[in-house]
Amino acid sequence: MSKFAILREFVAVRWLRPLRTRAAVERRQRRLLRSHLRFLRQRSAYFREQLATRSFSDLPLMDKSVMMSHFDEINTVGAGRDEALALAIENERSRDFEADLGSNSVGLSSGTSGHRGLFVVSSPERDAWVGTVLARALPRGRLLGHRIALFLRADNSLYESVGSRAVSFRYFDVYSDMDENIARLQEYRPTILVAPPSVLRLIARAADAGAFDVVPQRVYSVAEVLEIADEQRIRESLGQPLLHQLYQCTEGFLAHTCERGVIHLNEDNILVEREVLDAERFTPIITDLRRRAQPIVRYRLGDVLRERDRRCPCGSALTAIERIEGREGDTLVFRGLDGRDVPVFADVITRALLYADGFDEYRITQIGASRLQIALDTVDDRSRRRVEDEVGALADRSDASGPISRSWTM
Ligand SMILES: [Zn+2]
Repeated sequence: MSKFAILREFVAVRWLRPLRTRAAVERRQRRLLRSHLRFLRQRSAYFREQLATRSFSDLPLMDKSVMMSHFDEINTVGAGRDEALALAIENERSRDFEADLGSNSVGLSSGTSGHRGLFVVSSPERDAWVGTVLARALPRGRLLGHRIALFLRADNSLYESVGSRAVSFRYFDVYSDMDENIARLQEYRPTILVAPPSVLRLIARAADAGAFDVVPQRVYSVAEVLEIADEQRIRESLGQPLLHQLYQCTEGFLAHTCERGVIHLNEDNILVEREVLDAERFTPIITDLRRRAQPIVRYRLGDVLRERDRRCPCGSALTAIERIEGREGDTLVFRGLDGRDVPVFADVITRALLYADGFDEYRITQIGASRLQIALDTVDDRSRRRVEDEVGALADRSDASGPISRSWTM
């Protein structure tokens, strides 16, 4: 790890690249894309072949299965898929994440679809990533002396090495005992807390019970979709006026919240094309303009994003997002009154169920056209009927025939 490289990126993201206008954002993207395509033609066998006959905008879309089946030709550091996979699995199993592939780190991502993804990151890329995340995550004003608590699924080596007197990091393994984690967290007294919403919920519960009394300056939700009900509960219990988000996945660091708590796409490093889903929603197709060890080019993510219909008051020209709503695979399909399929996005369901109460957790499974199974963590019949009623009302509002729902206790 090079502290200098991290600092250079931090300074660039924080102060040197204001990108106040769309034209400035697009100018930067065009310049980075030109040089990236030049690099890919020289160094990636896969892209050399693709780019011989077509331009960037005609490149076939990538996804996890393309990445895994062409892994050896796509990456530019000579990594073989089987060797990298074996190393990543060993790292995951031992949970020490020490073994690297040359100067590159390897890791696994678990997909909602069940496919495992494999990622390779070079050490300069890691430095740049840490610098960018810090620049996005540290509050304005006081920069030094922060204690950052990170709850993560994997790869602590990334963070421990950047700890210094200026900023300290402590890593918490989400697989460890949660009571112990919270006791350690209480003792560490973080100024910044970064965790998936499922973990934040547990910390919030600990705060309610008096087991955690620290009010961090900032709380970041990462790695999972932040549900509206959770957001409220976490904010209240942890004394936060707003909850920040870092939208980070294996494919890249895609978005962050600004001082106002509004999500902005990281378009200074990532080109985002849109596959339109409806008037407000789209699925991002991303090209990381700087990631070279394992190029991410026209990669279709399958997440559902809702764009904000007005500019963010912070003045940033980076696209503002109203909400990251979840996976496209979480979309239900109702049968429209006119016979057509009506997509019902996960977020719409969640909002509908805010009106029903008496339960904390639910799981909805579509088991056929117009057939839903709804699992609730309650034995209360009234709650179950409320949920079925809300789903029925939602179908009415969507001009769809009411799906047959059957609910039971989780
Ligand atoms: Zn903003």
